[in-house]
Amino acid sequence: MSSDRETRGFQAEVSRLLHLMIHSLYSNREIFLRELVSNASDACDKLRFAALDHPEWLEEDPEPAIDLAVDADTGTLTISDNGIGMNREEVVENLGTIARSGTEKFLASLTGDQKKDAQLIGQFGVGFYSAFIVADKVTVESRRAGDSAEQGVRWESDGQGEFSVETLTVPRRGTRITLHLRDDAKDFVDTGKLRGIVRQYSDHVAFPIRMAVPAGDEKAGDEKEEGATELETLNSATALWQRPRQEISDDEYKSFYRHVSHDFQDPLTWSHNRVEGNLEYTSLLYVPPRAPFDLYHREASRGLKLYVQRVFIMDDAEQFLPLYLRFIKGVVDAPGLPLNVSRELLQDYGPVRKIRAALTKRVLQMLRKLSGDQDAYDTFWQQFGQVLKEGIGEDGDNREAIAGLLRFASSTSPTPGSVGLDDYIERAGEENKRIYYLLGDSLSAARNSPHLEVFRKKGVEVLLLAERVDEWMMGFLTEYKGRTLVNAARGELDMPGDDTDEAEQPKQDAPVLGRLGEVLNEQVEAVRATARLVESPACLVLGADELGPQMRMMLEAAGQPVPESKPILEVNLSHPLMQRMAELEDSDTFAELAQLLLDQALLAEGQLPKDPAATARRLNQLLQDRAERA
Ligand code: ADP
Ligand code: MG
Repeated sequence: MSSDRETRGFQAEVSRLLHLMIHSLYSNREIFLRELVSNASDACDKLRFAALDHPEWLEEDPEPAIDLAVDADTGTLTISDNGIGMNREEVVENLGTIARSGTEKFLASLTGDQKKDAQLIGQFGVGFYSAFIVADKVTVESRRAGDSAEQGVRWESDGQGEFSVETLTVPRRGTRITLHLRDDAKDFVDTGKLRGIVRQYSDHVAFPIRMAVPAGDEKAGDEKEEGATELETLNSATALWQRPRQEISDDEYKSFYRHVSHDFQDPLTWSHNRVEGNLEYTSLLYVPPRAPFDLYHREASRGLKLYVQRVFIMDDAEQFLPLYLRFIKGVVDAPGLPLNVSRELLQDYGPVRKIRAALTKRVLQMLRKLSGDQDAYDTFWQQFGQVLKEGIGEDGDNREAIAGLLRFASSTSPTPGSVGLDDYIERAGEENKRIYYLLGDSLSAARNSPHLEVFRKKGVEVLLLAERVDEWMMGFLTEYKGRTLVNAARGELDMPGDDTDEAEQPKQDAPVLGRLGEVLNEQVEAVRATARLVESPACLVLGADELGPQMRMMLEAAGQPVPESKPILEVNLSHPLMQRMAELEDSDTFAELAQLLLDQALLAEGQLPKDPAATARRLNQLLQDRAERA
């Protein structure tokens, strides 16, 4: 009986989580084992890493391993490891009082679909609590590596809002978790069932997972000795990435992916490579089928695990891939790196920079290959396309390779993500040496923009871009395979075949242009006659070096000064309205119509006129005139 036993309440979010585990996540119960084994495996990884500085911690018990044991009489299942262990403070912190950042996000992302929700547990770092799916009491006994037996600790809870901790003599290093199985979960004492679950979910754990089974369990009945047991290793316990490619089946690759990512779906594709030579490393990289919930958080974890000589060094080894490839999951094993590498050291370590450059190319090649599979690539693009676009601005060295992976909607192919730059070039042929694109506030605004009229008439395809990053990205993407990218709504329009077609160039000396210029002087930079329009009377054009609306919004949102700018109004002199206006003598009416002409051009761009109420008043006047004539 120890005197320092204390009882504490769970932090509020943890209580909610436990309630949920106990009352609603029972359709996929066996995942608790994957989570507890995964924690035991993490603890063994941490021990091996810590032992680089403290080799004496390994002396008496050098082989990290995970042991399962069942007791049918008491209805308990025990999972123990000889990993890093926890001291009293760590137990309290990790298993109950401090809200783990994942807890709240996990609760917020629940779908109500039990099966899916249970699968999410591991990805949010709340795996330990899944023990309460099958147990009505959980006992954790632990001793931190380097601590004495008397510094051990016992944590116990029935998952109902409180837990107890007390100091305890623990004979060996590591953690032992005893699950007192619920009445409806007693089947988890069945060794055959446990063997199946471990093989399904935990085969790739790099440490042996062992279980005491009746001797000769898998042999014929009459060979069995009554009561004798032996330790059976349940998993393959090898580092998959160290095995030769041709010996690994697709199923093994897929299950390893589920292991490293805590995902439950299959990856879209993967690439496994060993590089020999003076900079030796092995990489196994996966493209997930789905974006993680925190893809756009700055602090979000990044996918790669770093190993050195098979010793796990760190998660989120962000130095090995650029930020725009942060969705890639997998493993890098670089035996040449010093075992005591830190994040700071990795930062400007020459060999790491080289590996990073090579892995970046590797990923881009893998994506290129994936693009041959339309369905898979569609999924990839939907999930990660916006992140990949960041690479156009951030990775000048690989810009062309990234650009080739981009997908757009276009004036002739309106489905988002259906057109690549290579498709565009192939369709344009030698006739059109430019790649035209149009930015809009939304895809439908871009699709219906008056700027497309002349392109439609001439049968020239225009890429349509409407995502927030697009204008920023296109600022960097000025050329692809020797062809210039041209914003269809900017500057003087230079259409294919125009040089030979002098007759079609509009006259810039028509008097109506001057009259419009006088009326709209304050609001526009210039008024020009246009060859852009077929059906519409007028449209707005950005000066060649002006910021577009998306960039303006981004600057405004970031609190940056946004330079003043006025658009150019281009008018279609052959439009009946313009021909009528050219003849109009009454200057008040002309001014009213000129203002409305500008306002409707703003509206067509998805922007508001300067004085919307005045626009509405003018429109109402027009409607009234029309009604009176009807
Ligand atoms: P995660 O594993 O994602 O951190 P968990 O809820 O599974 O989240 O575990 C919470 C924490 O409890 C772990 O991060 C670890 O610090 C600690 N822990 C759990 N199991 C063990 C164990 N077997 N040995 C040492 N520490 C453990
Ligand atoms: Mg865990």
